[in-house]
Amino acid sequence: MAVNAGSSSLKFQLLEMPSEKLITSGIVERIGMSKSVFMIKVDGEKNEEILDIPNHGDAVNLLLNKLIEHNIISSFDEIAGVGHRVVHGGDQISKSVVLDDAKIKYLEEIIDLAPLHLGPNLTGIKAFKEVLPNVNHVGVFDTAFHQTMPEESYLYAVPYDWYTKYKVRKYGFHGTSHKYITQRYAEMMNKDVKDVNIIIAHIGNGASICAVKNGRSIDTSMGFTPLEGIPMGTRSGNIDPAVVEYMANVKKKPVKEILNILNKQSGYLGVSDISSDSRDLVSAAEKGNHQAALAIAIQSKRIADYIASYHNYVGGAEAIIFTAGIGENAKPTRADIGGRLETIGVKIDEERNDTRGVEQLISTDDSKIAVYVIPTNEEVMIARDTLALL
Ligand code: AMP
Repeated sequence: MAVNAGSSSLKFQLLEMPSEKLITSGIVERIGMSKSVFMIKVDGEKNEEILDIPNHGDAVNLLLNKLIEHNIISSFDEIAGVGHRVVHGGDQISKSVVLDDAKIKYLEEIIDLAPLHLGPNLTGIKAFKEVLPNVNHVGVFDTAFHQTMPEESYLYAVPYDWYTKYKVRKYGFHGTSHKYITQRYAEMMNKDVKDVNIIIAHIGNGASICAVKNGRSIDTSMGFTPLEGIPMGTRSGNIDPAVVEYMANVKKKPVKEILNILNKQSGYLGVSDISSDSRDLVSAAEKGNHQAALAIAIQSKRIADYIASYHNYVGGAEAIIFTAGIGENAKPTRADIGGRLETIGVKIDEERNDTRGVEQLISTDDSKIAVYVIPTNEEVMIARDTLALL
């Protein structure tokens, strides 16, 4: 079972391994609030119930009992392992690990690095461990894939003891997705992962670019937190940090609130004043809305900047991969980014680019760098790592 626990939600997928066949998936929402929602897919159909689910432990119990009730499993013993998506592994965890007491203690020690996500992740892990004490629980970390970055990529040019004493450095996120894409690309090209030099543009509601050299992450756009890098659905991406103090002063608000605005009311939403959803912006831009077009253009420009720079850093990328909600589906955005990369030899083929949600080459045959759409699959990656550690 692949699990992604948030503060009030819990997403799950049950996969048959090693065939990677999806058995069922679902989500529990509004945990701890009134009118919690439990959704599970039974024979592909959504089955939704509204009820009160006071905490994560209750959510886990309910979900496991529903698997039996819907005849998806006949006993809990059929679940051989649980893989948990964990947002942060600090600088000690560079691969997926079995979540024993020592690992959980370590995660509790680094909770301040990602308090909004790591706390709920730990709550989910503990709830599952309590209900399924006899199976292995594996942590699959968003930061792990990026632990191969060299110092020159992950260190900020700030006083060195900010790093040594306070762990301030770039960690990077979306690592499970970037790793999946790297492996999948190697498989598609029939080559060893060690020979893969690519740039991955994971563009969804959250978005990050990753430079992959010899199959390893050597740089990525997200940083100490997911706020760094390119503008996203609601995040600003890079800004001059001096703006934070300035806006705190003029708005007479604490720094915390300004950061909240940079995380939750910026990016697509902030610039467009319309929505954080790319579909809304694409359609508003098509109708001539300037701010919607601008929100997309600012993001596309910054993505192209990162890709051009990473092309240099990996020593010449063989391919650029688009993935996640926008990367997989939004052809005008891909075309726009491609158009901004003509000077490094990228040529998008209009017909090939007319695609969504499937693996597809979208560059012309004479493009100097191949461009692909490859749908990401973090849950399969979680299941693979869990199986490997059983
Ligand atoms: P994710 O976070 O990967 O689920 O991606 C969410 C983003 O993908 C949202 O901005 C969606 O609007 C966007 N998205 C999903 N489907 C489409 C589509 N058909 N066209 C444009 N954007 C899409």
